[in-house]
Amino acid sequence: NNEELAAKTAAINADTNNPTIFDKIISKEIPSSIVYEDENVLAFRDINPQAPVHVLVIPKFRDGLTELGKAEMRHGEILGQLLYVARIVAEKEGVLDGFRVVINNGVSACQSVYHLHLHVLGGRQLKWPPG
Ligand code: C5P
Repeated sequence: NNEELAAKTAAINADTNNPTIFDKIISKEIPSSIVYEDENVLAFRDINPQAPVHVLVIPKFRDGLTELGKAEMRHGEILGQLLYVARIVAEKEGVLDGFRVVINNGVSACQSVYHLHLHVLGGRQLKWPPG
């Protein structure tokens, strides 16, 4: 249930850094538009979409992954799950033929929430290089 999930999330996410707003999205304290959810992964619509499809894919248990740069070999399984869920989201949102997955890492990449998240963007012609 949600209370158990909130307790588990808080405990695991307390390890390295402060909690983030995503903890409250995971625990459903803050409502979000959920596109996909399983035991380990949550995908929800970005509150400030940069494309017609803009979904964030996050691990429910941050486990040190404040950013991709903190990844260790032990995170391999969840990292693979996140990427696969990005593909599920793209299909669900009808953009499997053209979408982009972005991870902003650190200040110079404009990361603003220190809980690893994949941006899944699509639904319009995306430009390259990104800004
Ligand atoms: O990569 P970055 O850290 O900048 O991305 C954080 C994303 O989280 C932003 O796109 C922002 O719109 C989104 N966000 C959200 N809901 C919140 C807070 C942030 O969707 N409550």
